[in-house]
This record gives sequence, C-alpha cells and structure tokens, in this order.
Amino acid sequence: MKKIVVLGGGISGYGSAVLAKKQGFDVFLTDAGKVAERYATVLNEWGIEWEQGQHTMERILLADEVIKSPGIPEKAAVVQALREQGTPIISEMEFAARYMGKARTICITGSNGKTTTTSLIYKIMRDAGMNVALGGNIGESFAYQVATCQADWYVLELSSFQLDGMYDFRADVAVLMNITPDHLDRYGYCFQNYVDSKMRIIRNQHSLNYFIYSADDEVIAAELSSDKHSLRMRQLPFAARAAVASGAGDAFYDGEEFTATVGKKSVTIDCRKMQIAGLHNAYNAMAAALATLAAGVEAEQVARSIYDFCPVEHRLEPAGEKDGVKWINDSKATNVDSVWYALESMTRPTVWIAGGTDKGNDYSPLKEFARKKVKCLVCMGLDNEKLVREFTDVVPQVISCSSLDEAMRAARAAAVEGDVVLLSPACASFDLFKNYEQRGELFKQWVKENVL
Ligand code: ADP
Repeated sequence: MKKIVVLGGGISGYGSAVLAKKQGFDVFLTDAGKVAERYATVLNEWGIEWEQGQHTMERILLADEVIKSPGIPEKAAVVQALREQGTPIISEMEFAARYMGKARTICITGSNGKTTTTSLIYKIMRDAGMNVALGGNIGESFAYQVATCQADWYVLELSSFQLDGMYDFRADVAVLMNITPDHLDRYGYCFQNYVDSKMRIIRNQHSLNYFIYSADDEVIAAELSSDKHSLRMRQLPFAARAAVASGAGDAFYDGEEFTATVGKKSVTIDCRKMQIAGLHNAYNAMAAALATLAAGVEAEQVARSIYDFCPVEHRLEPAGEKDGVKWINDSKATNVDSVWYALESMTRPTVWIAGGTDKGNDYSPLKEFARKKVKCLVCMGLDNEKLVREFTDVVPQVISCSSLDEAMRAARAAAVEGDVVLLSPACASFDLFKNYEQRGELFKQWVKENVL
C-alpha cells in the first residue's frame, strides 16, 4: 500500500490526511509542534496515525510521497532529509486535485489582494446559486472538502508556498493579482525565485482555460513577454493604466468605472458605488468580474454581488468614527505594496501606525504618499529604528512606541477633526502579537473602549 506522510498538522495537513485515508493509503501525520484539539479529534475519528512534538525520521523516510504544509520552510531538516533521498514532496492542492473528479477550480494568487478577490469571487458564485466551495489559504481545507463533500467549483486562494508544491495541478481559471516583493526570507532573498513561484499558477493550462492577470504589473508583463511560459490559455488582462488587447476579453478601469468583458458577455461597474474603496479594490473587482463571467455567471448577477460586497476583516476595515476622526484597521497590510494602496486610498490627513517585524522592506515607494498625506507616523514595534530613520525627514512628526497601548494613545493625541488614524503596518506582527488578526482585533477593541 502506498505510504503517505503528511508534514504539519494544521488546517492543510489534517485535511490532506483525511483525504489520503479515504483514498485507502497508509497515512502518517507528523508535527514538530502541537496539533490543535479540533484537528486531533478529526484525525482520531478517521483512525489516522499521527504524532506531535517530534518527527520520527525512520518512519517519515519510508514515505512514497510526502504532503507538506505550506508553513514548513524548505530549509527545515526534515524537508532536507527527504529531498536528499529524492522523496516527492507535494502540496495539499496537488494531492487533493487528483481526487476532485469533474469539479473545476478558480485559483487566485498574487502578493496582495488574494483574500479580498477570493472572497468576492466566492460570494458572486454563491449568490448565483452555484455549488461552490472556498479553500486554500482561506476557509476550510481544500483536501478535507474534496474528501467530505462534492462541489462543482472550488475557489482557492493560493500562496506561493502552496504553488511551490504543485506540479501536475491545472487551474481552470487562474488569477494573478500582482507580484511585488514579499516573503523574500523564504526565497533565498532572491526576488526571481518568488516570481517563479507565483508564475506556477499558469502551469499546465491549455486552450480552454483562462488566465486573468494585471496588465499594469511590470513584473508579470516581463514574465509574459519572455519565452519561459507556454501561453495557450485564453488571456483576460485587467488594467487601469496599460490597456492590453486580448481576443478573449479584458477589463479596463478609467478612474470611475470599469467594463469587464469575457467573450460576448460584459458588465460595467461604477466603482464609486462599491463598498470597497481605492484603486486596489478596483483591480480586485475587475479580476473577480472576469473570473466569474468566465465561470458562466450572468452579468447582472456579477454586478449585484460586487455592489453588495463589504470589506473583509482587517483589510481597510472601518473601526469607527468619533469627533470627526475616522479609525481604520488595515492590520493585514504586512508588506510595503499593500500599504502603498492603503495610503493611495486615503482622502484625509492621516495619522499612520506602522511597524512590527521588518521583512527586509524597502520603504522608498511609500515616501511620496507619506509626504502628501501623512501628518504623523506612529511606529509600533520592538525595533523601530529603520522606520524612524526612513521617515524622519519625510513626514512632519514621527513617534516611536513599543506597545499597542502607547501607540494608540500617541495616535489619539495626534489626530484632530477631519483626520484618519490608519493602522497599516507594512510589517509582520510577530514581535508584539500572535498574528495580524490579533493585532487588528486589539486595535478595534482599543478604539471601542477608549475612543467611541
Ligand atoms: P492577501 O490575501 O493577498 O494578503 P488581502 O485581500 O488580504 O490580500 O489584502 C491584504 C492587504 O493588501 C490589505 O491591507 C489591502 O488593503 C491590500 N490590498 C488589497 N488588494 C490589493 C491589491 N490588489 N493590490 C495591492 N494591495 C491590495
């Protein structure tokens, strides 16, 4: 019997283990940390052998194939040992797609905008009454859903780490939002390695598949004009600057509206009427409109759901307004590009709270907006030196704080009627918080208790 080892007992791992068991394989799940109670219960219910707090190498090295969770880095000793002996290592997506039958996939990747676009696509399809499931980096495990229910469509948010473990997988509709530097620590500090990983989204696509991408993104444009990729699929570019002609369809945003066309169907959206604001959300809506038209949703339905869609939590999420000061939680902005779009969408003088664990950031792209819009930068982190240095001559006031409470007090003192306080950190959250969700929750809670 084929031996499958699942590395990592988080959401991706437990789902993969259940599916492997259902397919009749000999399954062993191993996690060097602790497996959450809810996953442990499911593993036991399915009679799956598993361990935590260690990796039993003798057993792991016997695997015919290994399914690795995206959170485990390539340099982990267990991965290195498997690579050395040539054991195939795949991702949950690669594994689950083998067993999804006739179901089709819409796969969304990019450095920013994945969750928003994925959620919007899912909403449009669900509102249209389609039998659709949500998975990947968001919602329930894709593999678990393949094991336990049968959807016609899977809308999957894919990180570069998931793409890395995909080989034969083929997306029916691939969506690539943008490619800007992120996670370089996991890619040997080489941007091209990260770009290569993102471009795997179009691997294996054929002439009946769709590829939706930003034609304004120079990195993507350079990749597509190189001869590295086979481009047999139907291309659906979206843009606000560089219109690109494509026989299959496209979308273009003129600063107020966009029209998205796929084949004979098209929909026009007035972005001023959407509940998600800013240029970046026009991009997200264009990508979602193209993807869902390509999946066969009627144009009127696409429009209705787009207008109805509210911001996802922690993404430029309004946290309240008092005495003319608006508080916005953009805790999910963990890299420079997402903050660029956050600042781009600010229409009032801004008190900007940033900082945390710096991932090798280059802050220069933010300086123009900071100069124009930011009246005070509140740095919130254990090591604020770089941010302070970079912005001292750019914005009128820079304050260094080492806790959320201190930063919030400083922001409250700096803001006057007509201002906005924006938490948009450009950094990971791990110095002061468990994750970006906790950072956002604590921000909202502080606003509720001390401002509203
Ligand atoms: P991801 O899942 O790729 O991290 P999200 O939708 O969660 O993307 O958004 C992450 C951050 O990036 C948010 O702060 C949001 O304001 C910003 N953002 C959203 N869409 C885009 C986009 N298309 N381009 C750049 N930044 C974006």
